Amino acid sequence: MDIYRRKGFDHIPPPEEKTDGNKQPMVAYSVQYLDREGGDIGTQPHPTTFDLDVARHAVLKFKASVFGVVTVLKTSHSPEAFRYLSDESRLDRVSRILSDASITVDVHVTKIIIESQALVNAIRTVVRYYPQIDLEGNSLELDELYAVIGHYLRELESLRQGPQDSALDPKTTEHLRLLLDYLHTNVYKDKIDAERILHLKDLCTFQMLWLLFKPGATVYLEFRGNLAACVVQSVVSDPAILSDVKQRLEPYKIKLWSLRYDGWFVGRTSTEVVLPPFGGERAVTSLKVFPCKYRDKTDGGKTKRQLEENGRKWYNLLLGKQMSYHGELFDQRSLEARLQTKTTDSNSDEPQPWESALIEGLRRGPLREATNPGPLNGRVYVDSSAYYAQWPTAAPEICDTNDIGHNLAMCGCEECYGRRAHPPPNFTYASYDLLDPTRVQDLKALDVAYCFEPNINPNAIDTLVMPAPRKQMIKALVQKFTNPEASLSTSWRADFIENKSRPLIG
Ligand SMILES: [Zn+2]
Repeated sequence: MDIYRRKGFDHIPPPEEKTDGNKQPMVAYSVQYLDREGGDIGTQPHPTTFDLDVARHAVLKFKASVFGVVTVLKTSHSPEAFRYLSDESRLDRVSRILSDASITVDVHVTKIIIESQALVNAIRTVVRYYPQIDLEGNSLELDELYAVIGHYLRELESLRQGPQDSALDPKTTEHLRLLLDYLHTNVYKDKIDAERILHLKDLCTFQMLWLLFKPGATVYLEFRGNLAACVVQSVVSDPAILSDVKQRLEPYKIKLWSLRYDGWFVGRTSTEVVLPPFGGERAVTSLKVFPCKYRDKTDGGKTKRQLEENGRKWYNLLLGKQMSYHGELFDQRSLEARLQTKTTDSNSDEPQPWESALIEGLRRGPLREATNPGPLNGRVYVDSSAYYAQWPTAAPEICDTNDIGHNLAMCGCEECYGRRAHPPPNFTYASYDLLDPTRVQDLKALDVAYCFEPNINPNAIDTLVMPAPRKQMIKALVQKFTNPEASLSTSWRADFIENKSRPLIG
């Protein structure tokens, strides 16, 4: 019986076969639309996984897949003219701007928006350090004059024409060719080549000055005849410097970093130098800030060696040491006096932001002036850590470069102490940041030539047994053994034993 009954059911199709053609899928796809504030507009079923490029193919067929060029026009319209218009009437009025004689229109700048991921990747492989732009995104928006491409033009050219082992895939090669050809034809023309020829003669022009300041390059910063070494962080030029030659050009703003000590750590800190417009050609080394190689090749590396030596001395003094001092003291009054002479110089410019910052640091420190004006000859004890412990507001700000990555949070690990974002593994300057002088003794990893604040006092530098950068500290901490009555400090007691103050830094 059982057998027959089973047989009787055998021909009955299973329920799913009955509903064939109206099959319930295992995964349901749908697309939800939001407004630009994130509010729900509606949901629609979609036959398969959603691909925006496919879905918008018909609409976006004219959209550039490699890069787009956006010309920004400046018009005489008041800001209110468009404020309350609907999108439709706004577009309608925009379309009539060019034919309206009552409105003045000028080309302001041109932007390039690189949409090709392959091209963004190719640029990312050659660019070492460029904190101004975010290379991690899917697209890359570059403002005129697209300095990152200009700075890495040689690398990108050789990437395009490179040997087979480093060959790019055909798509990337083609995208790179399109971009470089566009820039050669429309933007740089022969300007980069012409400027490089000038560079060989140690000359430069204001229009192409940006080319000298590739982020990551080491430069000398001049102050009253002395040079300090810094690293270029960014260069900001007038956005219309190549395209809009009629207008009055804005000065370059060059951000640099160098190493300073805040009483606990040696870390990188940013300063800014402003280079005002000049006409014609000018010697590169006459600029307030210029790439090291222009001096190094003429003095056989003498400046570089001197700065390296100063750097070593400075680093070794961070833990406190007794020294012999012969030279002028460096204080607020003398710095202000120097800046005063400078601004009355016939061909000088305004005080630089970093010079004002130096004065500000001194103002926040002890204001005692030397009781005996003039040079000091005697033994001194230098202890930066104790100095900043006593006058914390005089300590320089470190870890303010903000160049490690975009939108990174502060890191609390034992390398970062909550004072900076954690550097990614490929970050070039990770080993320069947050050095603990009580722990890090090996200076080989540290390029000491590029680490130190300006040597301020031109008179002291030649006679000094110790580095100039810490003169303001010496002034505050000095005990004048030759004349104890003329002591500068009452609250601070001189420590005569070398390195006794080590525990202060902990
Ligand atoms: Zn960390």
